[in-house]
Amino acid sequence: MQQGRVSEMCGIVGIALEDVSARAAIPIFYALYSLQHRGQESAGIATVSGTAGAGSVGGSGEIHLERGMGLVSEVFRENLSKLKGNIGIGHVRYSTTGASTLKNAEPLVVDYRDGRIAIAHNGNIVNASQLRNELKKEGRIFHSETDTEVLAHIFVKGLMKHNDPISALEEVMRRVIGSYSLTMLVNDTLIAVRDPVGFRPLCMGFIEGEKDANGVIFASESTAIDTLGGITLRDVRPGEVIIVREGCEYESFQFCKATNKAHCVFEYIYFARPDSVLDGRLVYDVRLKIGERLAEEHPVDADIVSPIPDSGVTFAIGYAKRSSIDYIEAFIKNRYVGRTFIMPEREARETAVRLKLNVVRENVASKRVILVDDSIVRGTTSKRIVERVRRAGAKEVHLRIGSPPIKAPCYFGIDTPTREELIASSHSINEICSILNADSIGYLSIEGLIDAIGMPAENLCLGCLTGKYPVEVPGEECIAKQLKLWQF
Ligand code: SF4
Repeated sequence: MQQGRVSEMCGIVGIALEDVSARAAIPIFYALYSLQHRGQESAGIATVSGTAGAGSVGGSGEIHLERGMGLVSEVFRENLSKLKGNIGIGHVRYSTTGASTLKNAEPLVVDYRDGRIAIAHNGNIVNASQLRNELKKEGRIFHSETDTEVLAHIFVKGLMKHNDPISALEEVMRRVIGSYSLTMLVNDTLIAVRDPVGFRPLCMGFIEGEKDANGVIFASESTAIDTLGGITLRDVRPGEVIIVREGCEYESFQFCKATNKAHCVFEYIYFARPDSVLDGRLVYDVRLKIGERLAEEHPVDADIVSPIPDSGVTFAIGYAKRSSIDYIEAFIKNRYVGRTFIMPEREARETAVRLKLNVVRENVASKRVILVDDSIVRGTTSKRIVERVRRAGAKEVHLRIGSPPIKAPCYFGIDTPTREELIASSHSINEICSILNADSIGYLSIEGLIDAIGMPAENLCLGCLTGKYPVEVPGEECIAKQLKLWQF
């Protein structure tokens, strides 16, 4: 994560293998590895043996759990062998609610009267504190600070009432406001859920597991299914619950039909891998179109187009293609620098940035340079980057940004700073240009972004760009009243 950038959130996986003697932990490990970009703070896997194959809700399989702080490759070593069972879920986390500690790592396992559930969540619950207070008044005890535990308690409450996970999930959808893609183990049954407007991605497919055991997989991005040599079947639909039955048969329940969806545009701009297909759109294609559109909206005479690695790469290719200006890299990224480490001294921080990204002086000296990036959050990183290219001898530095200006915070699982800290919230484009000391700056328009994604605006969340949100958020403007938007 680059300092000053919008932060990643979480990645989730769920796998059920048909053969009860097969081990789901292994494909889950590889799937999490391929989703590492979605969260690097902690990782976890929970598994269970399906006594009669997947699908017996209320079965007594023991849930095994291994979680730890760090990357997937750091958390799972010998402990992978402890994760027995042909059904499981996995999670990689970047914290948006609750501190980055082991007790907040997922999957979260909760005991209830008739067994155990495990849950892996990508998203953020807007009314979590209100629900948490209600649940506490009823005497429920919380062990973590996460909104996932709130979700788990609401689900368990419904489960005790209806003795049926599907009815319990309907209750979750009625009560919980916010973004949630979930994979769950309810005793020995795998369930996948996507919130009614589909903020966060979730897709499903088929894989071949160990000893050729066939299986069903759910994952935040299709790239996880590709990694396992599987076939992506489709996206889990907004408002859909899918339960995996015995023999990997699955059953779908469409609870909530939203008139409009609210797919997060930042999944396409920055979060998802370019090789993932989200809601029917290959992310690489969207980014290429964004770059082309940027060139049409903000042309400039220049000698080279360069990305700011890595997220600016596909945009810059599109820009270079449309403008016929040479694509030449101004920066080379050190791929062996891991997560951003805390270096309190300014000098040490500068060294860390140089360690991560080195300017190719010969490529920029005496040139008019177009730098293409995905977004500007606080502006601190962009300012430093412009300064470095100038110091390397560039004649002009023009910034082109693949997202429209970020003016408002996100409440749906993306860790954006407050309005006060967002540079575009309180400054005009000209002011930003002069603060960053660029010769010109061009942001993609909202219309350009919608065209590049190729979905109607009504099916996208543009909250952080417009300050108008698709579901009710206290103190913010809502573009569609939730009750009118959703239909059970
Ligand atoms: S507010 Fe912005 S970052 Fe958050 S879900 Fe909506 S588009 Fe995505």
